[in-house]
Amino acid sequence: MVQGSQLYTGGCLCGNIRFEAVGPIDRPHSCSCKMCRLHSGAFTVTWAEFSAESVNWTGKGESPALYRSSEGSRRAFCNICGSSIGAVDDKPIIALLLGSFDKPDQAELVPQSESYKSSRPQWWHPEVHS
Ligand SMILES: [Zn+2]
Ligand SMILES: [Zn+2]
Repeated sequence: MVQGSQLYTGGCLCGNIRFEAVGPIDRPHSCSCKMCRLHSGAFTVTWAEFSAESVNWTGKGESPALYRSSEGSRRAFCNICGSSIGAVDDKPIIALLLGSFDKPDQAELVPQSESYKSSRPQWWHPEVHS
């Protein structure tokens, strides 16, 4: 758990879905699993988790559209522009994709681990420098 009650904001490409999330953030990490790849169109995505009650949907579109991608979680996206926003879990956790943050270049958001490293193409080597 990364300490701090900082406010994080972000949203989708068209601005229909916007969020405000209050830290602390949990488990900033990257993931290269097939589900994240298909959800985002990117080989690797980066995530930060928040308790569900600390995330507010503030855009005109209110809550994002949801697709149940697995037992326990639904993928969140904008139903207008299609941007991937995150994942809304059945347990009260909302994971947000760091790529949707207004200010992703912050020390506490640096991924601490990489999930499903072996699932990415062998020629793809994302580098994280904190
Ligand atoms: Zn949008
Ligand atoms: Zn994944």
